[in-house]
Order: sequence, then C-alpha cells, then structure tokens
Amino acid sequence: MAMPKAQRATILHADLDSFYASVEQLLDPTLLGRPIAVGGGVVLAASYEAKAFGVQGGMSGRRAQELCPGLEFVGGHFSEYQRLGDEMVDVLRDFTPVIERISIDEAFLDVTGSVHLFGPPAQIASEIRRRVRVELGLPVSVGVATTKHLAKVASQVAKPDGLVVVEAGEEQEFLDPLPVELLWGVGPATRERLASRGIRTIGALAATSPGTLRKLLGNAVGTKLGSLAANADPRRIETGARVRSVGAQSALGRRVADERVLRGALGFLADRVASRLRAKGRAGRTVTVRVRFTGLRSVTRSVTLPWAISVTLTLAELGVDLALSALADHPSEREITLLAISVSNLVPESALQLELELDTRVDQRHRPGTAAGAARWASDRAVDAVRDRFGRDAVGYGDVMFRDDRGVPDAFRELAEKELPDGR
Ligand SMILES: [Mg+2]
Repeated sequence: MAMPKAQRATILHADLDSFYASVEQLLDPTLLGRPIAVGGGVVLAASYEAKAFGVQGGMSGRRAQELCPGLEFVGGHFSEYQRLGDEMVDVLRDFTPVIERISIDEAFLDVTGSVHLFGPPAQIASEIRRRVRVELGLPVSVGVATTKHLAKVASQVAKPDGLVVVEAGEEQEFLDPLPVELLWGVGPATRERLASRGIRTIGALAATSPGTLRKLLGNAVGTKLGSLAANADPRRIETGARVRSVGAQSALGRRVADERVLRGALGFLADRVASRLRAKGRAGRTVTVRVRFTGLRSVTRSVTLPWAISVTLTLAELGVDLALSALADHPSEREITLLAISVSNLVPESALQLELELDTRVDQRHRPGTAAGAARWASDRAVDAVRDRFGRDAVGYGDVMFRDDRGVPDAFRELAEKELPDGR
C-alpha cells in the first residue's frame, strides 16, 4: 500500500467562545462573571459561569433554571452578533483568502499559502486569537490540524479561550481518548446507542468493525462516523460562499482622534479593503466605519452610494468623512482605540464599469469617465500590478495616496509599522 502523502497541519478552525453570551457580557460588563443565558423557552447560548452548572445550548429554559437557580436570561442583540461574527472573518482574511465560514461565529481556514508570510500555523493561530481579543473584545478558541474535522475537534478541546495544535502523525493519539460526542454529528441519541455497546471513546469507535457500526447506527451514519474516528476526512475548505462584505480594522492603542490619525489609519485600512475587493473583481455601494472609544464603546456610521466603489482613495476619503461625523457627534470622546471600515452591498466590478459609463448623473470624484476618476482607477491598477509581481510591501499606500502637504504619508508608514500595538 502506498504511504499517504506527508501532510502538514495547516487547517485552522476558529470558533468564538459561548458567542451570544460573550457578546452580551461585552455589551453590558455588569454581566461579566455571572451565569447568564440568551434565550427564554430554549437556551440559545450560555456563559461559562452557567455552563459550570450544566446549562447547555438547546436545553429548555426551565431545565436550565433547575440546574442553575441563579441563571439570568438576557435578550439577544442579534445585529451585534452578525457584526462581530463578520469582524472575526475580517481578521481571518488578513491571514488567508482561503476561508470557509460555517456559521455566524466559526470558520475554517487553510494557511498553507500563508506560512511564508506569517510563520507556522500555530503562530498564525495565536496571532488570530490575540487580535480577536484586542479588536473585538471576545475570546476565540482555535484548533489546528491536518483535516477540517480534526481542527474542529481540536478547537472544542481548546475551549474555553485556548489553542490546540494536533501535528501531523499525532492524530490518532489525540483522538483516541476523547469522548465520542466530540465527533461531528454525534448527538445524545447516537451517544446513547454507542454507549449501550460500551463505545464511549473515539478510540473505541475506531476499533469497532464497520459492519457493527452500520448495524448499530444505520449505513450512512455508521460509515461516516467510522471514518471520522479513524481521522479520514478528505474535505477541502470551500470558499465558494458569497461574501457579504469586505472589511478591515486596526487597533490603535489609545490615540487622540485628530484628522491626521484618521487619515493615516483609514488610508491604510482602505488600501487593504479596496485591493481585496479588486482582487475578487467586486465593488460595493455601502461604506461603514466603526470608531471605538476607550472603554470599548463604539459608534458606527455608514453611507450607501448610488454606485459601487473599489477605488482606494475614494474609500479612504469616505471613511475619513464618516469617522469625522461619528466624532462630531461624540465631542466628549477624545481618544480612540480602534478604527474599522467595511464595504457591503457588493456587485461584480465588471457590471460597475458599464453602469458608470452609462449613468451621466454620476459626476462624483471617482467616476472613471472623469479625469480625476480615471486617474484614481489607473493608479490602483498600477499598484495592484506591481504588488502582484513584487509583493504587497513593494508599494505603500502612503506613496500613492493623499499626496498633500500635511505630512500624511509619514503617518501612514508610522501606523503601518505599529499596526497593532498592544492596546490593552
Ligand atoms: Mg462558537
């Protein structure tokens, strides 16, 4: 038999911990350290303090209250869940485009092509955890392994707030002692059926003959679980899902929010977002900026344009306008700790060009039909082409943007170098 090809553990599974409950504790810090559940009739999510009493998602509210008499139910802030889930994906996208989001708060990524830039997968995983903690204020657990299934098992073992790396060759050793319910698709009923035959660990499951498993669980489930227990999982990361938005953010430590800082940081972030959009052949109509003040309080401003954009400078200018308007509404906040910008309402870029040429009402700054718009468009293309050949750092955003006498390019470089100072 041929030896399997040597493999490296390059698949990551990132999963925000007790997501809904953690977000509620983030939004209302008085809930920190307390047993809370989101939901009512049914528990949608429980904090770790509640889980310590045996409370679990999917459980009836009444049962949860019996297990944990001090349990408090809190309402769900669903739009915040969506926003924070999207922001985690924005962080992941800084490490690789090979991402498969499987739910609001978890995603797979394959970092095979990223190790030469960011170091070994375990280092990438640590950096992701650090950034999500600093930028979103939330704990995320990450599993690293050779297959999707194993990476997911590893992230579950890593919880709460941990990192588990399963190196190639150590898979079976890692899996064998774990309880069967960590396998994808093993719910209470399957677990009971397996337990009735004395099968409680993944190792015991792997040692059971395929015929016995099929008899016990039916053909489909029996076959699937048998292969998962033996760590056979050929599935690749599926990046096909349509992205809804493209965004980037940067923690700034604490900075006085003057226009120079905003232009520097948002220029840098706009460069990242716009070049990512262009690489995907997309453009978007809605631009959203989030400004976070000290104490994690943040405000969001967005604008929806009559046309879609993917030009770096235009995005940067809109971002600065939005950030200034957010700051104007909060005159007592002098310091900011994070800036985020995203573009949504995406359309294919090819459709965009045609539309713009036909629409004579659009006479704004980036329009390709105008001299200024054409210059911006061409400048982005030139930058993209140079970076394609010589790498992302070959041309800095400061070299091409905001060329005025305000010394902004220096601010860009400064922020680029310290993009993520340890803010907290
Ligand atoms: Mg989760």
